[in-house]
Amino acid sequence: MRERAAVCRAGAMAVLLAHSASAVAADGYEDARHAMLADIRATAADTRDHTGLARLDDRVMRAMAAVPRHEFVPAALREFAYLNRPLPIGEGQTISQPYIVALMTQLAGVEADDVVLEVGTGSGYQAAVLARLARHVYSVEIIEALGQRAKQTLARLGVDNVSVKIGDGYQGWAEHAPYDAIVVTAAPEAMPPRLLEQLKPGARLVAPVGPQRRAQSLRVVEKNEAGGIEVKDILPVAFVPMVHPED
Ligand code: SAH
Repeated sequence: MRERAAVCRAGAMAVLLAHSASAVAADGYEDARHAMLADIRATAADTRDHTGLARLDDRVMRAMAAVPRHEFVPAALREFAYLNRPLPIGEGQTISQPYIVALMTQLAGVEADDVVLEVGTGSGYQAAVLARLARHVYSVEIIEALGQRAKQTLARLGVDNVSVKIGDGYQGWAEHAPYDAIVVTAAPEAMPPRLLEQLKPGARLVAPVGPQRRAQSLRVVEKNEAGGIEVKDILPVAFVPMVHPED
């Protein structure tokens, strides 16, 4: 009897360890998150002809598994938080579809020691995903109310390697440049030159580029060691526009 109890306790311990390894405390959304990962995998397979990627890296998928997306959406939409689709976050803005968040994270080629710039903090979700893979994420948001809310969400979740600033993303965040990767989550009509300047040689910038409400392309720009750039169009996408402060 006594021996059996000990075995049971050891079993419980293994379960606890397994949970802490995935870094998400039990929150009732485990099944939904699991289904979201399966949907991301399926969409990755469906879009492989565009992206050239049959599957996303385990590191990226682990980051997607670890960030509680329901914390980043309005309370009334929590039940939809893990659907593989964008959702409104207020102020006419949206949190991107999970597959797109994962794809952009992968295309940016983020590594553990990287300092990353994000343009368009929105809810803070993409920043939180990047923050699981990078050393530090600097994120710029033009709408004050969203930036403040994202800061609060990230602080509440204990994410301490994201800095959010209210400002115009077309200017980047020069103080911490150059960056090992840049992820732009609103669509400019053309690649913003200041962002290219703030990219390190050897680094990548991922952005949806194109006219408002018309065809945009998810584009990867890689700066080579000589400072030249190589551009690849990956996938047709639909993002909210990257606005100019005077708009
Ligand atoms: N990454 C976000 C989704 C962002 S939606 C998330 O994970 O939730 C795009 C965001 O870009 C919006 O919040 C919008 O206000 C912001 N944005 C638009 N133009 C901008 C600009 N010039 N500079 C900074 N942010 C901008």
